[in-house]
Amino acid sequence: MKIWLDGALRDSESARVSVFDHGLTVGDGIFETVKAVDGRPFALTRHLDRLTLSARGLGLPDPDLDEVRRACAAVLEANPVPLGRLRLTYTGGHGPLGSDRGDKGPTLVVALGGTTRRPDTTAVVTVPWTRNERGALTGLKTTSYAENVVALARAHEHGATEALFGNTVGQLCEGTGSNVFVVLDGEIHTPPLHSGCLAGITRHLVAEWTGAKETDLPLDVLRDADEIFLTSTLRDVQAVHRVDERELSAAPGPVTAKAMRIFDERSAADIDP
Ligand code: PLP
Repeated sequence: MKIWLDGALRDSESARVSVFDHGLTVGDGIFETVKAVDGRPFALTRHLDRLTLSARGLGLPDPDLDEVRRACAAVLEANPVPLGRLRLTYTGGHGPLGSDRGDKGPTLVVALGGTTRRPDTTAVVTVPWTRNERGALTGLKTTSYAENVVALARAHEHGATEALFGNTVGQLCEGTGSNVFVVLDGEIHTPPLHSGCLAGITRHLVAEWTGAKETDLPLDVLRDADEIFLTSTLRDVQAVHRVDERELSAAPGPVTAKAMRIFDERSAADIDP
C-alpha cells in the first residue's frame, strides 16, 4: 500500500515517522476521515476546512491544503478501491522530549483504509463518562482519542457499535465517532455545538437536508425518543434499534428511513468536487 508522508508517496512498509513525533508522545495532532467512493473523496473541502480549524485550535501551523489535496489524489490513484476511507493525520512533528512542539515542522500522513457500507441499524450504549463542553479541545478533531477507545470498548462489551456521551450538565452530546439525532413528535432534533459535540460534516448535511433542529436535549431523551439515529462519514445515517436496555420497535422508523433516503440521494451527487 502506498501512503503519503513528508511530501511524497511512499511504501507503507518502509515509511517511518520519528519515535519522538509529538503525535505519538503527547497526542499533539489532528485528523480527518474522508470517505472515498470510486476514487473520489466525499466533501473534501469541508474536511479540509475542519482540518484547518482543528490545526488553529491546537496552535499548529495551517496545513498546506494544496499538498493535502495532492496527497489524497495520489493515494487514491495508487490504491484503487470502490469504497475506502482516507485518513489524514497532521501532528506537531518531532522534537526532543519535553519540547513544546517538534522543531522540524508538522508531520502529514495520508493513508487509505477499507470500509464497508454500514448496516441500516445498530445498538448503542450510554457511558457514565462525560464530554467536557468547555475544554480546550472541545470541537477539535484531535488524535487524543483514548477516551473514545475506552468508551467504544464498553459498547462492544454490550454488543453495541457506538457509545453515547452526555456532557457535564447532563445534556446529550455525541458518540465516540458520530453525532446523534432523535425524533420527537415527528420532528428531528440534534444537540447544538455548545453541547460539546464535534461539528460533524454528515450532521451538518443531514440537518440542512431534513430541516432538523438544534436543541438542548437531556440525556434521558434517549428513553423517550420515538426514533434515534447516528450520523458520521462512515455510518452515513444509521438507525438505532437498541439503546442500553431499551429496544426501539421497527427501526429504522419512518422519519429515520426518510432521512436515510434523502442522504443517499443527495450525497450521491458530487456536493464538493
Ligand atoms: N463526533 C466525533 C467525536 C467524531 O470523531 C466524528 C467523526 O469521526 C463525528 C462526530 C462525525 O463527524 P463526520 O460526520 O464529519 O464524520
